[in-house]
Amino acid sequence: MGGAAGLVLGAPVRGLAQAPAQPAPNGVDAAERLDDALFVVRLPGEANILAETGADGVLLVDGGSAGASEALVKTVAALPGGGPVHTIFNTHWHPEQTGANDLLGKAGKTIIAHENTRLWLSTDVTWPWNGRRFKRLPRIAQPNKTFYTTGALDTGVRYGHIPDAAHTDGDMFVYFPKQNVLAVGDVVSGQGWPVVDWTTGGWIGGIVGGLQRLQTLANEETRIVPARGPVLGLADIKAQAEMYGTIYDRLSQMLNRGRGPGEAVAAGPTKEFDAKMGNPDEFVRRAFESLWAYLSPDA
Ligand SMILES: [Zn+2]
Repeated sequence: MGGAAGLVLGAPVRGLAQAPAQPAPNGVDAAERLDDALFVVRLPGEANILAETGADGVLLVDGGSAGASEALVKTVAALPGGGPVHTIFNTHWHPEQTGANDLLGKAGKTIIAHENTRLWLSTDVTWPWNGRRFKRLPRIAQPNKTFYTTGALDTGVRYGHIPDAAHTDGDMFVYFPKQNVLAVGDVVSGQGWPVVDWTTGGWIGGIVGGLQRLQTLANEETRIVPARGPVLGLADIKAQAEMYGTIYDRLSQMLNRGRGPGEAVAAGPTKEFDAKMGNPDEFVRRAFESLWAYLSPDA
């Protein structure tokens, strides 16, 4: 609580101390530096993007939405040691992560993803709960280097599938051993309740499983970069695993008693977490529906 209050009080002071807003002179202003060559790039309204600079150019983990791809390319070129992008990872198929694929694919860059992510990007998807439609990507924008279990780059960067299906069935991590930084996409939500995309395989049991698995990949010093929100640590992941474990138990008990999503929402299965996490209704509804997909005998 103290930290959050400090942040709110701090904001206007910082505003007063600054000159009127100027266009960002270089990439540093949009980036949080984790290391000499590793940055979390935050463009307005966009999910987190991790950028590693090097002699060969820039490696990205996720690329923001399509509308931001020009700005992204400019921003990473202006990072200290920055340059053109040579490789991008897609941590999953959502357009908030894969919007730069078109630009980078046309430029002949390497796009790495789990095979399931490529499959989702090569077909149209509609979310049944709100009718949102996602058009398949043109072939040039689809991942051109896919894997099933794990992989590694010559630089030592390691990556792998997170098969629990926390968010989608193509979730992956990217680990930077030199800096001890672990990028995890939407497997971890650093900002409010997550989207449980059960249409493409995600489920509440997978959120718990994914958070447990990440604890075996990280140590006390690991900095964990989620798709949204601030950089997290192992303690945050442990706390989240406990919270989602509690919610999973409550929802699966309700399922076993024959209850439906509306009754689950009404029962307030997240009530002790809501002050911190925000309105849970959409999350609870999706999480409950995801149990149908995974636990119902006739599903
Ligand atoms: Zn997502």
